[in-house]
Amino acid sequence: MMYDVHEPEVLIVGGGLVGLTAALFLRYHGVPSLLVERRATTSPQPKARRINIRTMELFDQIGIGEAVLDAARDLSAHQAMAAGPTLADATRLPFTLPGGMPDWAAITPSTACLCAQDLLEPTLRALATERGCDIRFGVECTEFTQDATGVAATLRGAEGDTRRMRVSYLIAADGAASPIRERLGIPRSGRGTLGRAVNVYFRAELSNLVRGREFNLCQIENDRVPGAFMSVDGARRWIFSTSRDIDRPARDWPRALRIAIGEPHVDVEVMSVLPWEPGMFVADRYRDGRAFLAGDAAHVMPPYAAAGANTGIQDVHNLAWKLAAVLRGEAGPALLDTYHTERHPIGWFTADQSSVRTADLRTMAHRSTDGTAPADPIAMILGQRYPSGAFIDDNSPHTLTRLDLTGQPGTRVPHLPLPGGRSTLDLPGPGFALLTGPRADRWPQPDRLPVPVHPLDEKWCAAAGITSSGALLLRPDQIVAWRTPIAPVYPAALDSALDRVLARAHQH
Ligand SMILES: Cc1cc2nc3c(=O)[nH]c(=O)nc-3n(C[C@H](O)[C@H](O)[C@H](O)COP(=O)(O)OP(=O)(O)OC[C@H]3O[C@@H](n4cnc5c(N)ncnc54)[C@H](O)[C@@H]3O)c2cc1C
Repeated sequence: MMYDVHEPEVLIVGGGLVGLTAALFLRYHGVPSLLVERRATTSPQPKARRINIRTMELFDQIGIGEAVLDAARDLSAHQAMAAGPTLADATRLPFTLPGGMPDWAAITPSTACLCAQDLLEPTLRALATERGCDIRFGVECTEFTQDATGVAATLRGAEGDTRRMRVSYLIAADGAASPIRERLGIPRSGRGTLGRAVNVYFRAELSNLVRGREFNLCQIENDRVPGAFMSVDGARRWIFSTSRDIDRPARDWPRALRIAIGEPHVDVEVMSVLPWEPGMFVADRYRDGRAFLAGDAAHVMPPYAAAGANTGIQDVHNLAWKLAAVLRGEAGPALLDTYHTERHPIGWFTADQSSVRTADLRTMAHRSTDGTAPADPIAMILGQRYPSGAFIDDNSPHTLTRLDLTGQPGTRVPHLPLPGGRSTLDLPGPGFALLTGPRADRWPQPDRLPVPVHPLDEKWCAAAGITSSGALLLRPDQIVAWRTPIAPVYPAALDSALDRVLARAHQH
């Protein structure tokens, strides 16, 4: 039995989408981690497919966006929604969003994609291994304890061999049932279980049938086998999801699928039948001492807004730079409290909005099931604002009824295209960045500022709510930490802002 002291620094339990991205984000910040996953392989289920724009921005920040788009290429032409009495008779639905379609290039440098989880997980695993992350499949974390200085964990390999190790922090990316959350006794709140459904994953050669009508989701509207088809590779692999007849025996599914497809003689091979329950369960605390819950361990939500995995990936992006800053001694340990204060309200809001979305493709973006006002879908993905946390609030107005990113502290920095195909989103990370107007020379001691300075033009200043001598201080995760509309007169103003944001005890 080995006992390693504080090497690596972070233990990640769970090798799903959230655990694997946690390893990649920590690597980007130079933090050595060990990821353990009790399964022998990545998930064979293609559950999550929509990788949203914000997640792609984060992947682009650490240089893996292209590899993810490459893994997603089979579905690059499958963004549309469709509906009809059978797949054979379905037609595409007009693609609309409340408020109309945005000019994507004006709001983000990144591209959302559809990449089934059974393709994305191996892609992330390969990228993490390539980048030197220590990823161990077939290893279970069976026990852990924590004290004031670290976490002691017991790991068991597939052969039954055990190993004790000690780390500074633990990330529980161990899924909806989260044994770690249960052991910590963290309760969950929310709307609870909202129904029952089944996903039938099958193979059938349907490329000719759908050619010219390629779709992401195709709603089947008939009385015999209603539900929705989802494209997995857009040609041979599909999912049929329904909340009707969910206890149908596996052997009867091929016949039912042929009815929904509308082709009585097509060959259908059912690969798996996965019963699942849409529901909303949000952990009351995302942090317990040195343990942090992330992904489904922290929040479970129905898939109708395609937000579960995306929210989880965004959790660990928020956490990684904070752990790095504390481990390096650049921030006070209280910075880690802001993981809960920032991410819990986002998890709650996103799970709640996902719970009141209807599964009906014809109305889902426009209507809720219980009268709750639906947030603007783009605002929900890109435009949320942390209510409090590691930033200096200026109480400026903000709404989720449309995308409202104008440099408010606690929001993602507004995107502005820069020369060379770059964006303002490329300026922070892995460290902080100060985005100033063209008159940064008005700052006291402009050559001695403690973070890299990027002077931008007047158009940018207008978009960010500052004058030509003002600035936005950006955190490594592209969130605005501090906004000063004009150059400060006090030379240590920036250091003081950093002290507050990083929860540093000494004050300038
Ligand atoms: C039908 C369906 C469709 C969906 N569609 C979307 C979508 O389009 N977009 C989206 O964002 N989300 C979607 N989701 C949600 C998404 O699948 C989940 O939110 C996501 O997979 C959660 O990832 P995770 O890494 O947090 O957890 P998991 O994928 O559950 O991973 C947790 C891992 O931890 C491991 N583990 C647990 N305990 C231990 C231990 N003690 N030691 C070692 N390993 C352990 C488990 O084996 C597991 O592999 C969908 C979900 C469903 C069911």
